[in-house]
Amino acid sequence: MSSAVSRSAPPRIAIVGAGISGICTAVALQRAGFTDFTVFEKAADFGGTWRDNTYPGLVCDVPSRYYQFRFAMNPEWSQLYSSGPEIKDYLVKVAREHRLHERTRFGTEVKGAEFEDGAWRVTTAGGEVERFDFVLCATGFLHHPNRPDIPGLPEFAGPVVHSARWDHSIDLAGRRIGVIGTGSTGTQLVSALAGQVPKVVMFQRTAQWILPTVNRPYSRVTKQVYRRIPLLGTAAYGFNRMIFAAFSQGLIHPGRIRSFIQWVVARNLRQVTDPELRRKLTPDYQAMCKRLVVSDRFYAAVQRPDVELVTEGIDHVTRDGVVTADGRLHELDMIVLATGFDSHAFMRPMAITGTDGRTLDQAWADGPRAFEGVMLPDFPNFFMLIGPHSPFANHPLTAVAEAQSFRIVGWLKRWRAGEFETVSPTHAATDRYNALMRAAAPSTVWTTGCQSWYLGKDGLPELWPWSPGRYEKLIRREPDPVDYRLSRVESRK
Ligand code: NAP
Repeated sequence: MSSAVSRSAPPRIAIVGAGISGICTAVALQRAGFTDFTVFEKAADFGGTWRDNTYPGLVCDVPSRYYQFRFAMNPEWSQLYSSGPEIKDYLVKVAREHRLHERTRFGTEVKGAEFEDGAWRVTTAGGEVERFDFVLCATGFLHHPNRPDIPGLPEFAGPVVHSARWDHSIDLAGRRIGVIGTGSTGTQLVSALAGQVPKVVMFQRTAQWILPTVNRPYSRVTKQVYRRIPLLGTAAYGFNRMIFAAFSQGLIHPGRIRSFIQWVVARNLRQVTDPELRRKLTPDYQAMCKRLVVSDRFYAAVQRPDVELVTEGIDHVTRDGVVTADGRLHELDMIVLATGFDSHAFMRPMAITGTDGRTLDQAWADGPRAFEGVMLPDFPNFFMLIGPHSPFANHPLTAVAEAQSFRIVGWLKRWRAGEFETVSPTHAATDRYNALMRAAAPSTVWTTGCQSWYLGKDGLPELWPWSPGRYEKLIRREPDPVDYRLSRVESRK
């Protein structure tokens, strides 16, 4: 890297997505003096998943003091676990404080990006075409709603909504509501709807282990103290980080922590007093194999007389409700699909084409793969935030986005210093990295015999199989030059 040439022009940078990771990266760029970037956002506001998800009862299951950016610690959190709207407001505030709205094109969907003559040609849905030196995909992975193909669903007389597309114009009063799905979303929805409507029917395909918790508000005094002593916020962040690091040990190795969590969730289930209901709610797999659901309200809600748990499979839907495999019609006035997301799509259906016409679909024919979660061979100057194997189970994505932004900014600084023109990881490095993760997968809890969105086509988890701390260390270290293909400034076309 000795043939550095100083540059006269800053890099042109496109960030796709203005959610957690888009905001985080944009701020990191600004702080490093990169101001010539454009954020493309197909929706009308900041916030990503926290903008899209507005269903009743949405609460983040990671404590507020940890689910935030370290560069924008918020002393004003109203409770231990923040609600969806509070997190969305926080993200909008951070974005506005950093004047990101001035660099964001709302209502502008990126359709594709093609690497051509040493730069990226970015095309929007409106047909605009622009060239950038770098493309940073901050599109998240929980944003394409999974709408199950249940026979007869279009014939249902009442509204059918996906949890991530809640329709607030629908008056819930007096409605018998069916909730399909028992993940974090389904359990939160049932907990919130119970008692608010005449009947809630929860359709469960697979039972979930539930980790108990207690949510509590922060008093005015607590907020004042946190405002006056910012170090307290840092300490609280650090404390949560330690707890989550310990929890992650249970995810990645069998052992005492895994057994302890199993004991806690089994004990929590004991609050369900009816033996038949308890039997139905007992999963047949280990705790944490699926993403662990955290709730202080679900078991109380599901034991209410106006809540019914249905474990018979759904056969079809009629005008009047859901018919289960035993032939029973569950009469309903509204159906909620809490059926999750296509988490393996990442930035697709955006059409991304790298060098020699290689498309992202071709590169990911066997499933999403990346180098260290952020880069792809044959896709020079292309970075991903929360890309393949970056999700860390219950670990906050704010922390992952910060660490990945650090790596991306590091490369941009080297570009600015004239060290290279384009960079992409080698196939060998990427294959080696993915092989190591595959080898580590069997000791993780995610492969202990359950179905979940964590698993890819090959049945292996598409998650980082080690501790979050190990990833931070990896992504914050100096990249090893042997792992990359760099083209030099002299060869610029
Ligand atoms: P999910 O965990 O993927 O759960 C989807 C649910 O729908 C599962 O119970 C699944 O059953 C069921 N389902 C899917 N298709 C079905 C069908 N055709 N018939 C019957 N049931 C069907 O989705 P999610 O609950 O929306 O959560 C997704 C992720 O979002 C979470 O894992 C988490 O990362 C995030 N999230 C976080 C929070 C938070 O508090 N931080 C809150 C909500 C969501 P099976 O289990 O049998 O597949």
